[in-house]
Amino acid sequence: MSAIETPHQLPSVDRLLHDPDVAALVSDYGTPHVTRSVRNVLQLTRDQILSGQSIESKTLIDRICEDVLMAVRPSLRRVMNLTGTVLHTNLGRATLPESAIEAITEVARNASNLEFDLHTGNRGDRHKHPEALLCQLTGAESALVINNNAAAVLLTLNSLALRKEVPVSRGELVEIGGAFRMPDIMSRAGCKLIEVGTTNRTHSADFEDAISVKTALLMKVHTSNFEIQGFTKQVTESNLASIAHAHNIPFVTDLGSGTLINLEDYGLPHEPTVSEAITAGADLVTFSGDKLLGGPQAGVIAGRSDLIERIKRNPMTRAMRPDKMTLAALHAVLQLYINPTRLTTELPTLRLLTRSVEELEQLAFRLTPLVQNHCKHFQVTVEHTYSQVGSGAMPIDKLDSVAIKLSKPELRRPGKALKTLAAAFRALPIPVIGRIAEDALLFDLRCLEDEAEFINNLKALTTL
Ligand SMILES: *Cc1c(COP(=O)(O)O)cnc(C)c1O
Repeated sequence: MSAIETPHQLPSVDRLLHDPDVAALVSDYGTPHVTRSVRNVLQLTRDQILSGQSIESKTLIDRICEDVLMAVRPSLRRVMNLTGTVLHTNLGRATLPESAIEAITEVARNASNLEFDLHTGNRGDRHKHPEALLCQLTGAESALVINNNAAAVLLTLNSLALRKEVPVSRGELVEIGGAFRMPDIMSRAGCKLIEVGTTNRTHSADFEDAISVKTALLMKVHTSNFEIQGFTKQVTESNLASIAHAHNIPFVTDLGSGTLINLEDYGLPHEPTVSEAITAGADLVTFSGDKLLGGPQAGVIAGRSDLIERIKRNPMTRAMRPDKMTLAALHAVLQLYINPTRLTTELPTLRLLTRSVEELEQLAFRLTPLVQNHCKHFQVTVEHTYSQVGSGAMPIDKLDSVAIKLSKPELRRPGKALKTLAAAFRALPIPVIGRIAEDALLFDLRCLEDEAEFINNLKALTTL
């Protein structure tokens, strides 16, 4: 093993490329990519040597190999979501059922009848694929799937209310994470927002007063990420529908998450369902594919056929159309809803939301000693905690859950130590994401289903 102590002892780029370990990478990744890494590492190493340090030639080779591999590693990677937020927007929201993953693989690997009518042999409509199931499951006449729910709202407003007015309650002018603000969407959709009522109270008469010949539709937005409590009043969907229909205009409701089933049947808090909104008289309902529905990123517009037809004729629909993999996955997810008894086993979102505290507790007691082994300088305990649904569904309802808690009771300000600890878990082969709360790092176990994988992943943790 030779130490390199001066820059002129550094091997040439060419010699490094012929090192057996480096040459093996050349055959996988090609000369230009590997040469780039060799140059990068040589430059850094030269600076290091000039600052008085020496380096083993073996270390130099290792660095090059690591640089080559790091540069091709995908930026988008899987992680373990132990934050306690089941539908975490930053962590990809819903995880898909196996049937949906198989459906994606099938259309990804092969040609498909995406826009081809197998019956007539003529051109077909991609929007037809999920429609029948969506109608069956929601009671809607017609349905259209696009890229996401933000697009569903934008497209609905632009198609039905361009250069016209849309009254919305002041209590519903929401901002959903990631710069989706109702007033901004309205103006980008080309329609004029008419603010109605006050933040906490809006009455039917406020809507009656706001309607003019310029009014295109009435709109309700589900206040999905907060709740106003106390002296409040909202106009119900059925009242809004009656007012709208008395003036011959449609009533549109943006449910945000929305769900196709009554979650109370599964011991969860109530979340408005799409069919409830349609039964209440909504002419169109918009909702997300990857929130409580548990499917791929998508936005659904369900409701009256004549309105859906108008939306389909909007050229913007073309710019927001879903791809074949989304359509395949969505269909597989909707299929599970035909027989809801299978949902708690086969649909990950519902399976995770309905896991029992006892199951999580047992898991926590099995894992805690293993985590303690790797984190000798922290106190590792089992802690009762609360998970949340996330993505704006049921913002104030919490689900009983269990976490592994890592803390440093001897420190008055453990903030820095906890941040370092959290970073070490994020640096694992499968990054593990927890949450720091109340002077501890918590790993909520609700979304941990593969125990063996978690344990195996921990092995890469150097003692903390
Ligand atoms: C989440 C949400 C949206 C945006 O849906 P995406 O699928 O994220 O585009 C719109 N409106 C409401 C009320 C929401 O909760």
